[in-house]
Amino acid sequence: MTCVAGPQTFLPPYLLERIAGSASPRLRESARRTLYEDTHFRARAAVSTLPPGSTVRGRPARYVHDAQQLRTLPGELVRAEGSADSGDPAVDEAYHGLGDTYRLFWEVFQRHSLDDRGMALVATVHYGENYENAFWDGRQMVFGDGDGELFNRFTIAVDVIAHELSHGVIAYEGALVYSHQSGALNESLADVFGSLAKQYRDRQRAAEADWLIGAGLFTDRVKGRALRSMAEPGNAYDDPLLGRDPQPGHMDDFVETQDDHGGVHINSGIPNRAYQLAAVALGGYAWESVGPIWYDTLIDSRLASDCEFVPFAELTLDNAVRRFGSSSRQAEAVREAWRGVGVLP
Ligand SMILES: [Zn+2]
Repeated sequence: MTCVAGPQTFLPPYLLERIAGSASPRLRESARRTLYEDTHFRARAAVSTLPPGSTVRGRPARYVHDAQQLRTLPGELVRAEGSADSGDPAVDEAYHGLGDTYRLFWEVFQRHSLDDRGMALVATVHYGENYENAFWDGRQMVFGDGDGELFNRFTIAVDVIAHELSHGVIAYEGALVYSHQSGALNESLADVFGSLAKQYRDRQRAAEADWLIGAGLFTDRVKGRALRSMAEPGNAYDDPLLGRDPQPGHMDDFVETQDDHGGVHINSGIPNRAYQLAAVALGGYAWESVGPIWYDTLIDSRLASDCEFVPFAELTLDNAVRRFGSSSRQAEAVREAWRGVGVLP
C-alpha cells in the first residue's frame, strides 16, 4: 500500500497548540504531551503484523485492544469479532464504530474492508494518559481518552472513527499527498465518508443530518458544537480557549499557510461544503446521491496523488455525468455546488 508520511491525527496541531498555551497547568500538560506524541510518531511501537482478516465478504474482522493508559501498541486484545459488549464504553464504541464504517463501505460500495480484501480492522483504546487525539497510523486506529475537561473520549463520535478509517481507504486508493490542496482533499474525503457512515447508521436524509464532524467530542465547557461543520465551515466552535473554527467555506477565503501540512484541516472546509451543498440540493439519502459520485472519484485511476481542487471538482462532475448522465440533476447539482464555493467558474 502507498503510505503517507506521519500519522493522520484527528485534531490538528494548531488546536492543541492553543490549549498548550492555556492558563490551566493540567490542560497545558495534556496538550503538550499530546503534541509531543504526535510529532514523535516514529518512536511509537506500531503493530508489525496485522491479525487475520475476513475471508467472508460482507463480514468484518474486528479487533479492539486496551492500551491501559500506556503508549504501546496494540495493547491487550479485549474484544474480537462476534463477542458480546464488554461494558467498557470506549471498547464497545470502537467495536461498533468499526462495524458501522465497514457496513457503509460494504453495503453501499461493495468494498470488503479498507483494502477491499477483508483487511482486519484493528483499534486501540485508552491510549496514553489524557491523550487528546485519535489517529490512523497506516495499519490501525488509536484513540485517546481525552482530558475530561475539554475533550471526551475520542470513540464517542462514530464519524471520527469512520474519518480515521477512511484515511485507510484513501491510502489504499493511491493516497492524495497529505499537504496543501491534495492534503485538504484527503481530509475532506475522510470527512465525507465519516459523515456518511453516521448518516447511513442513523438512516438520515441530507436535510436531517447535522453535517458536523466530532459532535459530542467537546465537553459542555467548550463553546462549540463539534470540530468541523461541513454545512457551515468556520462556525463549528468559537471558544475563549480554543479560538474560532478557522475553516473557510469559499475560495475567496482560502487560507495560505505552512502550518498543519499547508492547512489540510483548514481548507478542507471548501470541498466539504461543495459536497454538502450538492447533497442537500439533491435531497434524499446522501449515500444514494452524491456519496457514490465522490466514491467513484476516490477510486478513479485518473485521480492524481497531487490533485488540486479544480481538477478534483472536474473529476466529480465527470463521474456524475458517467453515472447519471450529462443533463441529469445530479450533474447539475455537482456543478452548481462547486460554483457555490468558488472552485468552478
Ligand atoms: Zn484526518
